[in-house]
Amino acid sequence: MKKLTRILYVEDNLTYRRIIRSLLTLEGYEILEAGDGLLALSIAERGHPDLILIDIDLPGIDGIECTLRLKKMPELANIPVVALTGAGNVEDRERMLAAGCERYLQKPVTPTELLTTLQQVLGIRTGRVQ
Ligand code: MN
Repeated sequence: MKKLTRILYVEDNLTYRRIIRSLLTLEGYEILEAGDGLLALSIAERGHPDLILIDIDLPGIDGIECTLRLKKMPELANIPVVALTGAGNVEDRERMLAAGCERYLQKPVTPTELLTTLQQVLGIRTGRVQ
């Protein structure tokens, strides 16, 4: 059986969660979800995702702190992290990249922009027509 690529999506906005979940599921990814940063850490530990897609503005610890903690956990540090946020602020962008995120996407993100970025970070080439 083909193993699906597993993405942990960390997002507190339920509307966004639903939209991105549908998109990624249709695209053939397996999705794990967390609504806050601490839950994300425990789900990542148990679920071993191939990539983490994370919102910056989260309840409790934010996406930056969550990424910093992930990068300190030896078994999770190698999982690529893509930040997805509404905060269009350059400081956040730099803090996110400094925390160890591979890429930074600003909402609203187009399906093509998101899927292309995920494929690039995962090193996947699919036959999907853009
Ligand atoms: Mn948020």
